[in-house]
Amino acid sequence: MSKITIAIDGYSSTGKSTIARQLAKTLGYIYVDSGAMYRAVTLYALQAELIRDGQLDKEELIESLPSIFLHFTFNPKKGFAEVYLNNKNVESDIRNLEVSKYVSLVAEIPEVRRKLVAIQQEMGKNKGVVMDGRDIGTVVFPEADLKLFLNAAPHIRATRRYKELLERGDEVTFEEVLQNVELRDRIDSTREASPLKQAEDAIVIDNTDMGLKEQFERVLNLTNRVIDQKKKDA
Ligand code: C5P
Repeated sequence: MSKITIAIDGYSSTGKSTIARQLAKTLGYIYVDSGAMYRAVTLYALQAELIRDGQLDKEELIESLPSIFLHFTFNPKKGFAEVYLNNKNVESDIRNLEVSKYVSLVAEIPEVRRKLVAIQQEMGKNKGVVMDGRDIGTVVFPEADLKLFLNAAPHIRATRRYKELLERGDEVTFEEVLQNVELRDRIDSTREASPLKQAEDAIVIDNTDMGLKEQFERVLNLTNRVIDQKKKDA
């Protein structure tokens, strides 16, 4: 079998999901957006009012974990799998700034991570998967065949996210989005449980000045090289 596991990690809004989706589609692999899972748990916490006056009740969220059921279903119209929270499609609801504001607090909780990492590992156990997130190459699939680590200047990342939110019709300011991107990066990189960090064997791609086409060609080349090597080794 020449199917490989591809881990894509990096800072917020570096275009991880865009490249991961393109790659999965080209290779006929499964794409898993692990951030969507942390976002869905955060949405649950907001809906269950476990976040009051900006404070997350961590104990209550941990107790609620057995009632949180997540799954993905492929949407052929969109060409990727959408996330469901307790059987409701929440793909759009999880993308707002309210969820973004609290998601890094939810993602710090080791019990939450344990639950989601187990689901992610199960989804990737047969290889042929492209997964993006913060700890995919370090914790979820430390043996991944190809690890990429994406980065870009903060104002470029915030500009991309700001445009996305405006296109959805959300009322946000650029300043709010930039602050959120920087805050999440800080919490994600400094938390105790599986912090965002570059795996030693990851290939770093800074796409501050790189177009999507150029980036995709580069990543596809890297991928094909790994697949060819695997075939030779087999
Ligand atoms: O990828 P996205 O920006 O949607 O992820 C939202 C948040 O989920 C991140 O800021 C991070 O706090 C958390 N996350 C994580 N580990 C992952 C994926 C996402 O902690 N593997």
